[in-house]
Amino acid sequence: MEKQIAIIGGGIVGATAAYYLSTLPGGQQVKVTLFDDGLGQATTAAAGIISPWLSKRRNQQWYQLAKAGADLYPQLIHDAQLGTDVYQQTGTIVTREIPTDLELLFDLAQERRQTAVTMGSVTTLTAAEVQAKIPLLANAQPGVFISGGARVDGAALVAGLLAQATAKNLTIRRERVHLTAQGQVVTSLGARQFDRVIVAAGAWAKELLAPLGITADVRPQKGQLIELAVKDYPIQENMPVLMPEGERDFVPFGHGKLIVGATHEDDGKFNLQVDPTVTADLFASAQRLMPSLTTANITGTRVGTRAYTSDFAPFFGPVPDHEAILVASGLGSSGLTTGPQVGRLLAGSALYGGTPDWSEYEKPLATYLKPSAE
Ligand SMILES: Cc1cc2nc3c(=O)[nH]c(=O)nc-3n(C[C@H](O)[C@H](O)[C@H](O)COP(=O)(O)OP(=O)(O)OC[C@H]3O[C@@H](n4cnc5c(N)ncnc54)[C@H](O)[C@@H]3O)c2cc1C
Repeated sequence: MEKQIAIIGGGIVGATAAYYLSTLPGGQQVKVTLFDDGLGQATTAAAGIISPWLSKRRNQQWYQLAKAGADLYPQLIHDAQLGTDVYQQTGTIVTREIPTDLELLFDLAQERRQTAVTMGSVTTLTAAEVQAKIPLLANAQPGVFISGGARVDGAALVAGLLAQATAKNLTIRRERVHLTAQGQVVTSLGARQFDRVIVAAGAWAKELLAPLGITADVRPQKGQLIELAVKDYPIQENMPVLMPEGERDFVPFGHGKLIVGATHEDDGKFNLQVDPTVTADLFASAQRLMPSLTTANITGTRVGTRAYTSDFAPFFGPVPDHEAILVASGLGSSGLTTGPQVGRLLAGSALYGGTPDWSEYEKPLATYLKPSAE
């Protein structure tokens, strides 16, 4: 009989898990149903920067996971036959005003490059060179250019992966579901037993796992960014992502689209309201880099809910004492980077079973999943 696998959540983790469940050896023998209500999805709201290598985070497991995610992207995009409108290695520029800070950053980049092939080449750029690469800027600072840095359109990526999987073994159901204490999935048609359930519900993992008697260490964080329509330079499709010191990130996409953000609002909970003062603050940051901008350039705002754990590290894998249920959450502000690797690993585990050793990438799940108090 065909194995039945459910995925709850259609963000980057759920979509890549679905994609790999449709392409990995043995995937032809499974039927996959993905449930998603699309509410507050972090993936579609995200800025799309894939450039983890200069992070100051000391967590080595997180760094290995983020590096593996960045490494996976070119292959995933190639295999899924997605284009440069979805993902492109335009390069990323991280700026520093003070020359000694710039040197330190360059040294760090050179060191990290030794073990990160996807980083490509590393160069120091003068302010004029930064401006030549991103002519939108009026006020540039010197920076370090990483040629392998990339930008991804999270919504387009998810749509592309899910379309590929739907052509094979995936059915998508746009609805909110929950779990029973026995791990059945309760849909609008009633409770249903699956051989495996992947809970890829981002910030909502806590409420989904609660009926199992598990308290997940996950809290929501609100993130907002703005979309702007700017002059469409012929080179814009290839313009690097800018991570300017002291300002919001500046992410040019093709066809004159510019993304500026994002905020990290810890008291935002699951609130998806656009806050006009935040929009004004994001716009002011954009305008300091590009004074010609007016509010008429703003074409939209995006709000999403990130998932955080107490130590800011993601967790994923089979739930202890509930091996038929796998979970991933806590991907925080770098989930577009780590998500494809997490989704790929979960798909393999759901297909082949066993007790995976992912200690290279994360702490034991018991760190984040505790029995609920009676
Ligand atoms: C403004 C912003 C900017 C960001 N920028 C970047 C960036 O530049 N680079 C980067 O690497 N990362 C970035 N991130 C982080 C990244 O977007 C997230 O970490 C990542 O998308 C999380 O993916 P996920 O699949 O775990 O969760 P999500 O994308 O949130 O998906 C979870 C899905 O599960 C669904 N769901 C939940 N509960 C249920 C239920 N009971 N039934 C049905 N469906 C359910 C939700 O509706 C949602 O669609 C950003 C995030 C935000 C908010």
